[in-house]
Formats: sequence, structure tokens, C-alpha cells
Amino acid sequence: MIPFLDLKGINAQYREQLIKAAIDVIDSGWYIQGEQVKAFEEEFANYCGTKHAIGVANGLDALILIFRAYKELGKLKMGDEVIVPANTYIASILAVTENGLKAVLVEPDESSFNLSLEAVKNAISPNTKAILAVHLYGQLADMPTINAIAKTHSLLVIEDSAQAHGVSLDGKKSGNWGDAAGFSFYPGKNLGALGDAGAVTTNDDELAQTIRSLGNYGSHKKYENLYQGVNSRLDELQAALLRVKIKHLDVDTSRRKNIALAYVKGIQNPAIQQPIAAESTLETLEIHVFHLYVIRTEQREALQAYLSAAGVQTLIHYPIPPHQQQAYARWNSECYPLTEAIHQQVLSLPISPVMSDEEVNVVIEACNAFQAD
Ligand SMILES: *Cc1c(COP(=O)(O)O)cnc(C)c1O
Repeated sequence: MIPFLDLKGINAQYREQLIKAAIDVIDSGWYIQGEQVKAFEEEFANYCGTKHAIGVANGLDALILIFRAYKELGKLKMGDEVIVPANTYIASILAVTENGLKAVLVEPDESSFNLSLEAVKNAISPNTKAILAVHLYGQLADMPTINAIAKTHSLLVIEDSAQAHGVSLDGKKSGNWGDAAGFSFYPGKNLGALGDAGAVTTNDDELAQTIRSLGNYGSHKKYENLYQGVNSRLDELQAALLRVKIKHLDVDTSRRKNIALAYVKGIQNPAIQQPIAAESTLETLEIHVFHLYVIRTEQREALQAYLSAAGVQTLIHYPIPPHQQQAYARWNSECYPLTEAIHQQVLSLPISPVMSDEEVNVVIEACNAFQAD
């Protein structure tokens, strides 16, 4: 079986370096808020091109703390409206509602699966205070236009970059387009720790300081607390492991892009709709880092069963949209037809830096051999 994601294989590439990094931390006697976290924060900020990176416990906390910090700074208050994509992983929306802010769901753009700019414009009300742009599947949302809309209406722009490490447009990376961005280093993400980890990036000194203190019990100075904070810190061990892996991120990303190009050129089955155009070249692929390679088909169940029988494991990202989850019962009667159609039709093919060319060919041939009804 070709696994959807061979995490063991991914980390095995760096086994010796990871072990050495872990031993260094074990032997250091210092496990929280030490030199590894400080060094990783600097390296990640440099990588993203931002002034600050603040390590936190996970990606959801990164987003939650951004909104929380804006509330503490008086830039957001309970009940303010935040525009979010209806078509996203639920964590994006949890970060908004957790803060007592009102999530205003909008439909995606059909070709990119990301925010529809028309839908964003139509959703803006006098109570709108922020836009949460998600770079879904690793594709940069249309940040120049989102920023222009935000500027016109004096809105904050927050990026959910959990799936989009290193994606860029005109050389400017995700995490550096909005006022602040949340990253996840969940093991399966493009830059994955060996446990939970996350970070916020921003160029705003005050926001950075506030998030740092909120994630450390609200403390700005030892034993002095400005806020009723939480404990959400990146630990030394994960930071040390991430420092090993960030060095290889760009090479991993280019392998992902090569696999995506092989798929888009090789898969020629009218029942399967590809996420990028066949004539794409590596340069025009700047705006996608292929955290996931997501195709669309009206015969998802049949295709998934067929691929499975052919030895190809696939997953669905995601089977149920947030507005249809029990957790958001208040939205269950609302209708987002495009979001719902996407959730019924998407299928994620295997993609990872450790897939071999032979495995890529097996996936392509299996997709081509599938016969639609
Ligand atoms: C993974 C993910 C998150 C949450 O990150 P965790 O580290 O798992 O908390 C948030 N948003 C999106 C789009 C994600 O894919």
C-alpha cells in the first residue's frame, strides 16, 4: 500500500540529527523557554521574512492567541465580526468563536478553494473588524486583494498559515502578508515537529509582546502578570527538532511540487478534476506548497475504493464542513452550497517528500485506470 503520508519515513531521513538534537536538550537540563526556542524563533522569523516569531504550543493556540491579543490591545472586542472561510478546517473558526468574536462564514472561490473575494466584500458590515485568510491545502490566498479590501474598510488581516509554510507570491512568504499569522507544526504539516507545536509571526512589536506574555500566564516579567493568560509555550525539545527540520523545508517543498507536476501532467481522466492547470511550470507554482494534493470528482466513493484496491491510500480533507458540525449547531440550518459540494467531492492523493517516482507512477496509473460510471 502506498501510504497517504509516510511520517516515519520523513523523520527517518534526519534520524541521526534528530537524535543528536534531542540528546543535547536532554543533557542541557533546561526544557522550557531556553536557547533552542529562542534560536528557532529567530530562524523561523528569518525564514518567513518577519520581525517576530513567537513559539506556542500548537497551531490552534497560535490563532487563538492572536485574536486574544487584539482584544487585550483594544483592537477587537467581544461580538466583533470576523470574516472566515466556510471551507476550512474547523480550527480556523474555533479560534474566532473561542474569543467570543462572531465568525461570519463566506463561500470559497471555486477554482482555488480559498476565500472568494466577492463573497468577502458582500459579507462586510459595520461590525466587521477582521478577515481570517486560510491558505488551504498550501495555496496562498489572494493576499494582495484581501489586504486591499481590508485597507479600504480598516480591517485586520490574520493568516491561518497552518498548511502553508514557505508559500509565497513575488518572493513574499505566508506569515508576512497579514497583520499576524498562525502556524502549526503538527507532525503531518509541511514543517512538522515530533509532537504538538506552533508559532505566531508578525511585524508588530506590541502584538508580539502581548502574545508572548499571554502564552506565559499573562506574565511580562517573572512573577508579574499583566493579563489573565494561559500556558501555551513551545518547548525546547520540539524547538530543537524543528531546527533540524527547517533546514530541509525548501528541498522537501520542491519535491512536493515535482510530484504535483507529475500528477497534473500524468493524470488524464475526465472524471478527475485537478487542483492546478496542466501547463503549470515550477515558477507559476510559487503560490502552492502542496501540503495536500486535492482532486475533485463526482464519484468520490467509487474512486477512493478503486484506488484503495490498487494499493493507493487516500484521505478526505474534509468530510464534514464546520457549519454542519454538531459543535456549531446554530449554523446547521444554514446553506453554503459550494462549500458543501467541495466537501462531498474532494479527495487527497498521497504526496510527501519521501514518495518515490515509482509510487507516483502507481498513483497516476491507478487514477487513469479508474472508469467512471
Ligand atoms: C492543522 C491546522 C490548524 C491547527 O493546528 P494544530 O497545530 O493542529 O493545533 C489550524 N488551521 C488549519 C487550516 C490547519 O490545517
